[in-house]
Amino acid sequence: MKPAPFAYVRPTRLADVVGELVAAEAAGGGKVLAGGQSLVPVLAMRLGRPRTLVDLTRVAELGQIGHDGGSLRIGAAVRQRHVERTAGGDVPLLAQALPWVGHREIRSRGTVCGSLAHADPSAELPAVALCLGATLDVAGPDGRRRIAAEEFFTGAMSTALGPADVLASVQFPLARAGEGAGFAEVARRHGDFALAGVAARVHLTDDGVHAADVATFGVADRPQLRSLRGPLAEAVTRHGTDPDALGRELTEPAAAMAQEAVTTTGDAHASPAYRRRLVTALTPRALARAVTASRKRAAA
Ligand SMILES: Cc1cc2nc3c(=O)[nH]c(=O)nc-3n(C[C@H](O)[C@H](O)[C@H](O)COP(=O)(O)OP(=O)(O)OC[C@H]3O[C@@H](n4cnc5c(N)ncnc54)[C@H](O)[C@@H]3O)c2cc1C
Repeated sequence: MKPAPFAYVRPTRLADVVGELVAAEAAGGGKVLAGGQSLVPVLAMRLGRPRTLVDLTRVAELGQIGHDGGSLRIGAAVRQRHVERTAGGDVPLLAQALPWVGHREIRSRGTVCGSLAHADPSAELPAVALCLGATLDVAGPDGRRRIAAEEFFTGAMSTALGPADVLASVQFPLARAGEGAGFAEVARRHGDFALAGVAARVHLTDDGVHAADVATFGVADRPQLRSLRGPLAEAVTRHGTDPDALGRELTEPAAAMAQEAVTTTGDAHASPAYRRRLVTALTPRALARAVTASRKRAAA
């Protein structure tokens, strides 16, 4: 199928992107176009019929990526592939998750902010944003506002963005000493959306375990964040940081977590029971990887 006819505009100022969206709203609806990797298929299948596409990739400020205080700020036009290649030292969880997003060709066009705005429940990056406590910077008709990741994702394919809002950038906190990241997912083929996945961040010092945050995705209408700090602290006290022993100790708490986290009804690909088994298996793996990474970082 071909998309329904639409007007296409490509402003060079952020204020004009918002202005075009406001004007489009009054004339039947508009949509931001970033990398087009999700929007174009939606148009081609006529699942959406916006009257106007507002391309933001010519706005210079949205193409910026760099440090901003203690965080990495990624503008709305920055492609996923660029971040994958450059963010490893700053935000390791982001760099670990990105190779799982579709295929390299898709990541060469797709943007980090586009994935967050699209809010697919099986997408990797919303879970990473939630796990790390990212902050989203939004420009809209009433000016700028900042939204915490935990308030941004409101349901399947829905966010706190209004129809004329633009997600201008996202800020991921830089990894601190003692922090480690772990990521694990299962998809039917590499590049497919996940059947279930887990993003984990731990903060571990000689004083003990200060954080063990786990964000699940692909198992509910939006990513969900839970803490396994207590079980991880107990496991580390008993077994130190040996990944195999940690994996075994964490299986039971992971199963309890999976029981609550998986709320999807089954689909053609997997039943809820299978997804619970995946979360139970993936969570200890991701946490053990995060602990190993944290020790390496502390030793470096
Ligand atoms: C074959 C294939 C496989 C894929 N596999 C995966 C996968 O495994 N995991 C995964 O996470 N994704 C996957 N994707 C989707 C891909 O990651 C997209 O790039 C991403 O979801 C959307 O980013 P985009 O920049 O292409 O956004 P677009 O397609 O341009 O836009 C997507 C939606 O977000 C809105 N939007 C985009 N940017 C903004 C903004 N800054 N402010 C407000 N609204 C905005 C648009 O209006 C639109 O509604 C896949 C895509 C394809 C085609």
